[in-house]
Amino acid sequence: MRFKRLEDQDLAGKRVFIRADLNVPLDQRGAISDDTRLRASLPAIRLAKEGGARVMVTSHLGRPEEGVCREEDSLAPVARRLAELLAAPVALIKDWIHGVPELQPGQVVVLENCRCNPGEKKNDPDLAKRMASLCDIYVNDAFGTAHRAEATTHGIAAFAPIACAGPLMAAELDALGRALAAPARPLVAIVAGSKVSTKLSILQSLAHKVDRLIVGGGIANSFLAAVGSDIGASLAERDLLDEARTVIETMRARGAEVPLPVDVVLAKRFAADAEYRIAELHPGEVCVEADEMILDIGPRTARALAQTLESAGTMVWNGPVGVFEFDAFSAGTETIARAIASSKGFSIAGGGDTLAAIAKFGVADQMGYISTGGGAFLEFLEGKPLPAITALMERS
Ligand code: ADP
Ligand code: MG
Repeated sequence: MRFKRLEDQDLAGKRVFIRADLNVPLDQRGAISDDTRLRASLPAIRLAKEGGARVMVTSHLGRPEEGVCREEDSLAPVARRLAELLAAPVALIKDWIHGVPELQPGQVVVLENCRCNPGEKKNDPDLAKRMASLCDIYVNDAFGTAHRAEATTHGIAAFAPIACAGPLMAAELDALGRALAAPARPLVAIVAGSKVSTKLSILQSLAHKVDRLIVGGGIANSFLAAVGSDIGASLAERDLLDEARTVIETMRARGAEVPLPVDVVLAKRFAADAEYRIAELHPGEVCVEADEMILDIGPRTARALAQTLESAGTMVWNGPVGVFEFDAFSAGTETIARAIASSKGFSIAGGGDTLAAIAKFGVADQMGYISTGGGAFLEFLEGKPLPAITALMERS
C-alpha cells in the first residue's frame, strides 16, 4: 500500500485538517466515560502542533441528524478533554463549513461534529470541496471509519492540495499489510465468535489466502454440523452448512485445512454457574446430547491449536473461541490468546469482543498489533477495498 504520511510533510504554518476518530462514549451527564480513542488520536495532533501547523481536528460523534446539532451531538466535551491532554487551549468551532477564523502556528481547534453537516454521509462533492478549501494538508487518521465513503473520509481527499495518513492510520495499514499482503508463512487465521453469517465473507476471502483457518465459537459449531457431527442445542446457523462446506473445500483444494474441534466443553444452560462437562468428539458417534450446548473448545483442541499458533509466521485473530465472558468457558480463548502472545510470529487482532478477551487475559502488550478498526478491520479481512484508503492511495 502506497500513501503519503503526515510525518513526511512540511508542516510549518500550514493549515492542517485532521479527520480523527474521536467518537468517545459519553455517560448520561455527557461526560467522557472512556477517552482511549482520544488518546490514540493524540500523536497526529501533537505532530501537527509541534510542527508549527495551524491545526483543525474533526470527527463524528454518535449518530446526529444532518443539519441539526443537538447538545448531545457536540464535540464540546472532546475539545475540553483535548485541551487538558495538550495542556493548551482548544476552541470548538461551530458552523465551520462557512470558514474557520485564522489560526496561529501551533494552535489547535476542534471543528464541531462533522456528521452534523448536510451531505457528509452522502459524500457530497460540494461539501467535500468546501472542506478541502479550508486546508493545505488533509490528514486521515480515522481507520475506524475507513470503510465508509463520507465527505470527511473520502471526498475531501480528492480535492485537498495534499492528502496523507496520520500515524494511527499508517500504523493500521502497515500492520494489515504485513499480515496479509506479504505475510511470513505459515499464515494462520482464527475466525471465531458467534455467527457464520456475520463473518462468511471473511471466511471465504481468507480461505484463498491462509495456510490454516482455525474456526471457533458458534462458527465452529456450524462447521461441525456441516461435516455431520451432532452439536445438540449449540448455537449454529443450519442454513449455512453448504457455505461452511465450501470454505472447507476451498482450503482443501489448496492443500490446506480447517482443523475442527476434537473435544468441547458442554453445558445445558447458558450461564456463568452452569454445570459443565468435557466431551471428546468422535465422527459418527453421538457425543453431544440433544439438550447440550458447546460453549468452548476442549483442552486437547486448545493445546493443538496453541501449537499451530506457536509455529506460525503470521497470525490474524478475530473472534473468541468460546463464551469467554463466563470463566467456566473461557479456557479455550485464554489458551489461544496466550499462544498468540508467546508466539514469535507477527500477530494482528481485532473485533470488539476479541479486544475484550485480550484485555481480560492481560495480553494486550504481547500482541503484534491490535486494530482499533472494528468494522473497518473486518472489511479489510474480507478483502474489500476501503474507500478512505483507496482515496489516500490515489493521492500518493
Ligand atoms: P468480535 O466482536 O470479536 O468480532 P463476535 O461478536 O463475532 O466477536 O463474537 C463474540 C461472542 O461470541 C462472544 O460474546 C462469545 O460469548 C460468543 N461465543 C463464542 N463462542 C460461543 C459458543 N460456542 N456459543 C455461543 N456463543 C459463543
Ligand atoms: Mg462482537
